[in-house]
Amino acid sequence: MKYISTRGQAPSLSFENVVLTGLAEDGGLYVPESIPEFTAAEIKQMQGLDYPALAFEIMRPFVAGELSDEELKSLIFASYAKFRHKAIAPLVQTAHNEWVLELFQGPTLAFKDFALQFLGNLLDHILKKRKQRVVVMGATSGDTGSAAIEGCRHCQNIDIFILHPHQRVSDVQRKQMTSVIEDNVFNIALKGNFDDCQNIVKASFTDQSFLPEARRLVAVNSINWARIMAQIVYYFYAALSLGSPHRPVSFSVPTGNFGDIFAGYLAKKMGLPIERLIIATNANDILHRCISENDHSKRALMHSLSPSMDIMVSSNFERLLFDIYDRNGDEIRRLMADFKHGAMQLGGSQLSKTRAIFDSYKVDDVETVRVINEVFNESEYLLDPHTAIGVEAARKTRGNSDVPVVCLATAHPAKFPEAIDRAGIKGGSVLPFHMRDLFERQEKFAVLEHDLKTVQNFVANNIRV
Ligand SMILES: *Cc1c(COP(=O)(O)O)cnc(C)c1O
Repeated sequence: MKYISTRGQAPSLSFENVVLTGLAEDGGLYVPESIPEFTAAEIKQMQGLDYPALAFEIMRPFVAGELSDEELKSLIFASYAKFRHKAIAPLVQTAHNEWVLELFQGPTLAFKDFALQFLGNLLDHILKKRKQRVVVMGATSGDTGSAAIEGCRHCQNIDIFILHPHQRVSDVQRKQMTSVIEDNVFNIALKGNFDDCQNIVKASFTDQSFLPEARRLVAVNSINWARIMAQIVYYFYAALSLGSPHRPVSFSVPTGNFGDIFAGYLAKKMGLPIERLIIATNANDILHRCISENDHSKRALMHSLSPSMDIMVSSNFERLLFDIYDRNGDEIRRLMADFKHGAMQLGGSQLSKTRAIFDSYKVDDVETVRVINEVFNESEYLLDPHTAIGVEAARKTRGNSDVPVVCLATAHPAKFPEAIDRAGIKGGSVLPFHMRDLFERQEKFAVLEHDLKTVQNFVANNIRV
């Protein structure tokens, strides 16, 4: 399988090179040259497969010619072994025809583990074959950092440096990152805000001369293709559990960067009978405005009770547009040039095509808290604030459809105690049993000044030789 850029002006790359590359040279994102498709009969044959076996079937066509079946199988097996629920992605019913897919059973209690456990193992494997080592550098406001650290902590060929804004992430989030004390893991608490962290990481990618020879930076952010690929699997897993391919299913997805729901779109393209894909946003509603009013314009970032969805721009949306515009890179370059000035508009037929697949809905903080409370009263099921947004979006957009809806539960409620407290559920946000000792664990992190050279020297001096 070859991969091409959404902007049509970068060389096509192999799977392995795409995983190591991140953004394409022309500023676009890499997508597979063609989307593999399964027939209904083939999907039917997947019924009954457990999560790793299903993951193998779904990912195999995307890595064809580069990873052998044995390699892929062992990567998948290692990646999902650390999930603490035997189903990996269990389904829980919350109302008539409404299910929650618990994607928070991994080591950091958020769905990002599905992608980052796999990506860590995959990178390490590719690097070992090539006898190379890399440095992973990233900025986090919370969730991604801990999932990336957990994904890389056992990697022989990766040193990972994650910057977080000093004293501005929650205690659970900080502890999850800083209690990983392996000697290839470095947490940097930067005296600055999240943007400062991000700017230092960006500048370091642009000029990597601070690194020792033969080392380079690799990004594990949500534009990395392997992350999307790994996320396609759970759409199949949930739909098959509910009777696919004979019974269509809808999905509601708490959306930030559009990576997760784009994986759902790919599942549909691959032949899974998905009726609707519901884009659920918080007050940062650029995608909801785009779908409902064709207003895809940047607005100031708002801080919400669902911080992992606080984004101004959803970078993976470009991957969808590429398809909607019949894979015409010129059109995407034109749209993105417009968007650089703050706004872009979809063409009439492209908007209709998008609406034929996606619904969208926005849920603000007040509603989020109300839904957590409502669902708890209905079934004593505790939603985290991100998941609550998905559930509310499903309830508001489905009308009286009798197609089952699956709401992706992207985080465990214990990660976001503020929303649970506000919903009035006393003592509700309890960490899972195996993490009860989180606050007693030893921490390792460096507090650094907000200064590019200081951070780069720290990185250069700590890389394993
Ligand atoms: C990252 C994240 C999201 C948003 O996912 P995208 O792929 O960026 O759309 C939603 N909920 C939680 C808890 C997350 O960590």
